[in-house]
Amino acid sequence: MPYTEDQEAEFKEQIRCKRRNQFVLAIPLIAVIVILVMSEGEETVLGMDTAIVGPAAFVIVLAGLAYSLYNWRCPACKKYLGKAINPSFCSKCGVKLS
Ligand SMILES: [Zn+2]
Repeated sequence: MPYTEDQEAEFKEQIRCKRRNQFVLAIPLIAVIVILVMSEGEETVLGMDTAIVGPAAFVIVLAGLAYSLYNWRCPACKKYLGKAINPSFCSKCGVKLS
């Protein structure tokens, strides 16, 4: 499906915003995963009980993944963009993204 130049510019703007959101999201997720790995075999993490921190971290990671699935979609066809961090084209509909 052909898009106007204005629409293509809008898609590129949207994907820039989405990419930034993905990076912002990745920072706390990576921090949580690092904390979990460091706390392996420990009874407390940063002074908190692992029985509390473990499930809480799990929920945070799940929420992060859910947000990523929701956010990381083609602005044109709304299909998931996959693992590519900087796709030039949508692999589903072919719209230019950068
Ligand atoms: Zn698409």
